[in-house]
Amino acid sequence: MAEQESLEFGKADFVLMDTVSMPEFMANLRLRFEKGRIYTFIGEVVVSVNPYKLLNIYGRDTIEQYKGRELYERPPHLFAIADAAYKAMKRRSKDTCIVISGESGAGKTEASKYIMQYIAAITNPSQRAEVERVKNMLLKSNCVLEAFGNAKTNRNDNSSRFGKYMDINFDFKGDPIGGHINNYLLEKSRVIVQQPGERSFHSFYQLLQGGSEQMLRSLHLQKSLSSYNYIHVGAQLKSSINDAAEFRVVADAMKVIGFKPEEIQTVYKILAAILHLGNLKFVVDGDTPLIENGKVVSIIAELLSTKTDMVEKALLYRTVATGRDIIDKQHTEQEASYGRDAFAKAIYERLFCWIVTRINDIIEVKNYDTTIHGKNTVIGVLDIYGFEIFDNNSFEQFCINYCNEKLQQLFIQLVLKQEQEEYQREGIPWKHLCASDKILEFDRDFRIRHYAGDVVYSVIGFIDKNKDTLFQDFKRLMYNSSNPVLKNMWPEGKLSITEVTKRPLTAATLFKNSMIALVDNLASKEPYYVRCIKPNDKKSPQIFDDERCRHQVEYLGLLENVRVRRAGFAFRQTYEKFLHRYKMISEFTWPNHDLPSDKEAVKKLIERCGFQDDVAYGKTKIFIRTPRTLFTLEELRAQML
Ligand code: ADP
Ligand code: MG
Repeated sequence: MAEQESLEFGKADFVLMDTVSMPEFMANLRLRFEKGRIYTFIGEVVVSVNPYKLLNIYGRDTIEQYKGRELYERPPHLFAIADAAYKAMKRRSKDTCIVISGESGAGKTEASKYIMQYIAAITNPSQRAEVERVKNMLLKSNCVLEAFGNAKTNRNDNSSRFGKYMDINFDFKGDPIGGHINNYLLEKSRVIVQQPGERSFHSFYQLLQGGSEQMLRSLHLQKSLSSYNYIHVGAQLKSSINDAAEFRVVADAMKVIGFKPEEIQTVYKILAAILHLGNLKFVVDGDTPLIENGKVVSIIAELLSTKTDMVEKALLYRTVATGRDIIDKQHTEQEASYGRDAFAKAIYERLFCWIVTRINDIIEVKNYDTTIHGKNTVIGVLDIYGFEIFDNNSFEQFCINYCNEKLQQLFIQLVLKQEQEEYQREGIPWKHLCASDKILEFDRDFRIRHYAGDVVYSVIGFIDKNKDTLFQDFKRLMYNSSNPVLKNMWPEGKLSITEVTKRPLTAATLFKNSMIALVDNLASKEPYYVRCIKPNDKKSPQIFDDERCRHQVEYLGLLENVRVRRAGFAFRQTYEKFLHRYKMISEFTWPNHDLPSDKEAVKKLIERCGFQDDVAYGKTKIFIRTPRTLFTLEELRAQML
């Protein structure tokens, strides 16, 4: 398996366990964690345990150790997986993908960044300027996305509140020439409310802490976080992130990536407008809601480059078409508050999607002519929210867990089914494995038996979040902004009230469609897996919480994964190719054999080396169970050359 380190660090591949049992699996995982060996293989899958401390294992020297090596030649590492995906892409022109899974705080996003860094480090040896530029953009785009899409939660100080799938495109030389980002379901409810101990998106704090006095003045903001209703919950929280410093980093990154000054200005104006929106108060005068603090309305109008009376109207009325008549219907106070919050969430979400689109404009592959340069190949990296069970689970958890179901299905399909099918094709006996069932129960709340455990979902607010209504009036308001950047974010505001007839798709339908597309995309690529485990709930580098870890090992199906690998064969190759590589090892096959078939010749060679118990002979391929056998073959070959 992986190059043997001293056994004091535990087994580098779970496939080497004496018995496949949960206690032995856990003992090995704990031992390795305690020894600072956070990565362990299961065959070609990397299991990672979040160390919660900086380890000196990502530097240039480590990168060099993994570059171009075979997966099993080096101790388990993310770099081994990244290199395997890269090699498959480069040597065999295969599109590959790296799927990173695990619950919130398990280390997915950090892993995706190390993988990107590795790929950036090993490519473009000739230092072509255009490729260097692309690499820089790909790396820089991350910090912008994190500023706007990440937040401090109780589980993770830098929790991604959106799903991300990033394609990196490579030219025929294997150098990155561009990329594309797909984002999934930003948790926009966080814009208006957070749980105790949590914060809103980093971007708000960064602006307030890092913006110059002059900038804040122009945005009518003051530094004090607790002045703003939408973010005051987490205002006093200490964060491991230095918001003020990060503000500069993100501002620079936006500039380097190529955001125009007026675009960056608009970004800040939108953030400020949201903070002000949160402070709007409605009072009721008889039946009529009024805005108590009119000054705030004019500030919002100024920031969004629209007119005060139009903002006020959008907040207090909605235009409805009744038959031929178009009337302005006044909101109740409740409707007005709902509208305000929906507006704040919507402009933040729009802003986030716009940022992704702008980044894509800039990093997408340009001027690549496949007729001249050949196929451009892709490595995809998926960093998406893990399974979530909270005390109170709502629509967001429902979507997130649905996503995890789909990915787990895909894992089973790709890893297990592919194996089964190949063995069947080759006539090698195989015991069938089946996936577990899901049971759906309803009372007021409803419970779904997910592969990762039962989750009770509260139906409160479910339908509203699914409908995700934003009054048309706000869309028109934004479309009529005299700020072209803003206007462009709201193209559908162009429609007049009588033209808007179709009911928009629900949030769940949109999400489901995006998941189906994602799974289809992943299924078309050669997958590599990183399974992340969170060792404890205290963000501590010292604690390995057995109970918590076991639960994750269970629902990630890691033990089954080991069983499949052990039942299966680590290595397989057609007889012809196998002989081509190893025929020099035996006198029966060197330089040529006179046996009736390549299969017979391979049998002879294997028996000569004494490996007959570690292999199986399929119709067209030889299957080797343990990589050690393969190593020995490689060594014997090297001795002969
Ligand atoms: P996830 O994306 O799975 O929610 P993150 O990747 O954001 O989790 O990791 C959460 C935190 O754990 C990081 O902010 C970092 O402090 C720590 N962490 C994760 N992976 C590593 C690692 N490989 N080395 C050191 N610290 C890590
Ligand atoms: Mg993350």
